[in-house]
Amino acid sequence: MTTISANLQAVLAHIEAAARVYGRTPETIALLAVSKTWPASFVREAAAAGQRAFGENYVQEGVDKIREIARPDIEWHFIGPLQGNKTRQVAEAFDWVHSVDRLKIAQRLSQQRPAALPPLQVCLQVNISGEDSKSGVAPEEAAALARQVAALPRIVLRGLMAIPAPATDFAGQREPFGRLRRLFERMCDEGLALDTLSMGMSNDIEAAIAEGATLVRVGTAIFGERN
Ligand SMILES: *Cc1c(COP(=O)(O)O)cnc(C)c1O
Repeated sequence: MTTISANLQAVLAHIEAAARVYGRTPETIALLAVSKTWPASFVREAAAAGQRAFGENYVQEGVDKIREIARPDIEWHFIGPLQGNKTRQVAEAFDWVHSVDRLKIAQRLSQQRPAALPPLQVCLQVNISGEDSKSGVAPEEAAALARQVAALPRIVLRGLMAIPAPATDFAGQREPFGRLRRLFERMCDEGLALDTLSMGMSNDIEAAIAEGATLVRVGTAIFGERN
């Protein structure tokens, strides 16, 4: 077994164990393998081990990799900061975008999504820790933005994504994930049809699952430390 395939099995086992501990069904927690900075060969190796969903942070790198790999059975998620001048490439190449944080970007993605492709699946990124440096819509503005984004054609609003400020202990990791989940639940109660809570990375996957993550984004634990 290759390192990538062994790491992948370990991460899946970790998700399953955490699901059991927190009374979750493992099948309700999807694994997104974050392949940013890694070559296409790493993606092919993970795909050979059964992984089908991959996440990329940088538009050009992601688009190049998608073209090189050219496998319709692989689902590509854009998870990085997105500028207005890069939306077309993302709308044409990716299946999902997790990092929509303003209407302008959503409108461009909607306009630029090719008619021949299924609608783009979208999550709103929420600045859950209120950090000045982080992208993401403010939690108190998320519901209004969600209603506007959900009304756009060629886009399906699926849920919320967040990258909390780093915390050292488990309780500190859970707290912002809990706030994102409660925001998500309030928005569902208000009539938005959302099913995706994209939260948790290599170092806080357990806390995210404890708080209801339906999709965890894992890079380092699968592919190794990035430079
Ligand atoms: C890099 C990245 C990840 C993966 O982080 P790891 O710590 O390597 O698991 C997840 N989500 C986003 C948005 C990222 O940029």
